[in-house]
Amino acid sequence: MVQAAKQNASYKTMHEASIADPIEFWSEQAKLIHWEKPFNQVLDYSNPPFSKWFEGGLTNLCYNAVDRHLAERGEQIALVAVSTETNQEKTYTFQELHTEVNRMAAILKTNGVNKGDRVLIYMPMIAEACFAMLACARIGAIHSVVFGGFASHSLAARIDDAQPKMIISAEAGIRMGKGVPYKPLLDEAIALAEFKPTKVLIVNRGLTPYTSVAERDLDYAAEREKNIAAQVAVEWVDATHPSYILYTSGTTGKPKGVQRDTGGYAVALTASMQHIFCGKPGETMFTTSDIGWVVGHSYIIYAPLLNGMATIMYEGTPLRPDAGIWWSLVEKYKVSVMFSAPTAVRVLKKQDPSFLTKYDLSSLRYLFLAGEPLDEPTANWIHEAINKPVVDNYWQTETGWPILAIQSGIETMPHKFGSPGLPSFGYNIKLLDDATGAELGADAKGVIAIEGPLPPGCMQTIWGDDARYVKTYWESIPGKLIYSTFDWGIKDSDGYFFILGRTDDVINVAGHRLGTREIEESLSSHPNLAEVAVVGIADQLKGQVAIGFAIPKDATQTTTLEAELMKTVDSQLGAVARPARVYIVNALPKTRSGKIVRRALQAVAEGRDPGDISTMEDQAVLMHIKEVIEQKRS
Ligand code: ATP
Ligand code: MG
Repeated sequence: MVQAAKQNASYKTMHEASIADPIEFWSEQAKLIHWEKPFNQVLDYSNPPFSKWFEGGLTNLCYNAVDRHLAERGEQIALVAVSTETNQEKTYTFQELHTEVNRMAAILKTNGVNKGDRVLIYMPMIAEACFAMLACARIGAIHSVVFGGFASHSLAARIDDAQPKMIISAEAGIRMGKGVPYKPLLDEAIALAEFKPTKVLIVNRGLTPYTSVAERDLDYAAEREKNIAAQVAVEWVDATHPSYILYTSGTTGKPKGVQRDTGGYAVALTASMQHIFCGKPGETMFTTSDIGWVVGHSYIIYAPLLNGMATIMYEGTPLRPDAGIWWSLVEKYKVSVMFSAPTAVRVLKKQDPSFLTKYDLSSLRYLFLAGEPLDEPTANWIHEAINKPVVDNYWQTETGWPILAIQSGIETMPHKFGSPGLPSFGYNIKLLDDATGAELGADAKGVIAIEGPLPPGCMQTIWGDDARYVKTYWESIPGKLIYSTFDWGIKDSDGYFFILGRTDDVINVAGHRLGTREIEESLSSHPNLAEVAVVGIADQLKGQVAIGFAIPKDATQTTTLEAELMKTVDSQLGAVARPARVYIVNALPKTRSGKIVRRALQAVAEGRDPGDISTMEDQAVLMHIKEVIEQKRS
């Protein structure tokens, strides 16, 4: 079975080896997966910045995630699909998962989907979504999962970009016990899009009535029945064959279609499971994200299954039936590795902490958190509530797996609050001066950049647009071909990185460059703050000033809150960082993945039009913020 390819004694030696000799390093890691035909070359970097990993090798993601485990653990649970919305809970062994994936693959095949064709998956968190992703991988079709919370315009844009031959969807999602129709939104999106899919496969959950389009729409239950005994041979694809397209969450602008390969992704994810997430074959991982995001692709579906682990797909909120629901699943399925996001923890933080200690969490080794900055109060709170290591990790849709993390599978190292840790193996990270491109040393703020070649698992290109890929990511730093994360960071003398916000979130107050994240961090140390966002807005005198938007924990105690918050910043960072105003609000504008959309806050605070806000969760929030600002002005 899966074995650690190479266990070096220390993080430092392993990381250095991965940078000094990536060929040797990754050829060792490549042994973690099955190759139907060995690769000829570990890396072809003859056309930078495009890296082709494991060229000539033939493999398959579905085979590695499912088939390969049948002999050893066919009867073990592979997938647990829990819905606290429909009150259904279903488990699938590797053997059962294999059977369902074969049926789904046969549905795809018999409806004309072949290797290289795109399949758009617009689905809630149900088992069929997992079958669909794996079925695509099985036949070499390229999936593009679109988060179920997106409405028709966002969906139409992705249909036009990915041009899927087939769309797989469900008639409805469900939230707080109420059906949320998907089918009408999907029909509207297809009407809006220029490109038209030939077939639409609908999983009818019986939640909301819907109308079918003759010739085009297929019923999953009927199709499954037709293919009940189907076996679909694995399509062995080149390691560089695209496995999927996934659009970024759109916090900073128009989403980009991140294209991922097959072989490099399988190797990187399996290696990350061993060295970073420390999950073992036969154990259970519970990732609370959604399959519409990169965390869902990598750590709900592929990485646990590639590593022979069971994975939990969860449909529902963290608060229903009560705030203990996630921890009850940890107990029930003996979860050893859990992965969530700071935003989810902040939701729990408003609840009675006794819900978190009601259950036996002895199987749990780590709670990983990623996606946005993990502020110290939130980290401390969850750490104390569950008494388990809380591991911040930093990465992007583009990279597919952590760029920065404490890698406990290699060496136990101390955590530092506010830091996601050290560069992951394979990542050659530089901190650069954004104006000159000069490399910076310890304790200096710079742009976090990655020297090429990007390690396996990272994006190959932007789907259909190599030129945009190079221009966007590799040519933003003067005089260098280097990948920019567009995140601003600092490294301490032990090599730990701290993320200070996005490069477009750096503000310049009277010549002082300040990361909005630092000011947020300082503000959030006030005991009555639940959440806060800081943006820089134009100021005639100082160039820019910082403006804060703060959600209080106790909304009845806000008379002197703004003044107290200013004092907090004064004493921690100095008066130069003091926000010109802190508005007390009851919500912040967020993307559907829970990230604060600072550019929209900035626009509203400057009295401008917020522009494209289609990726935003609740557009009414901006109206509320506008009102608060206007009230203060008058
Ligand atoms: P777009 O690129 O379309 O604007 P996005 O950047 O929000 O969207 P993602 O790829 O989902 O899309 O998010 C990656 C970003 O999330 C990182 O670049 C970083 O800004 C932030 N991030 C992720 N993890 C962390 C973390 N642990 N600490 C701080 N920031 C994080
Ligand atoms: Mg981004």
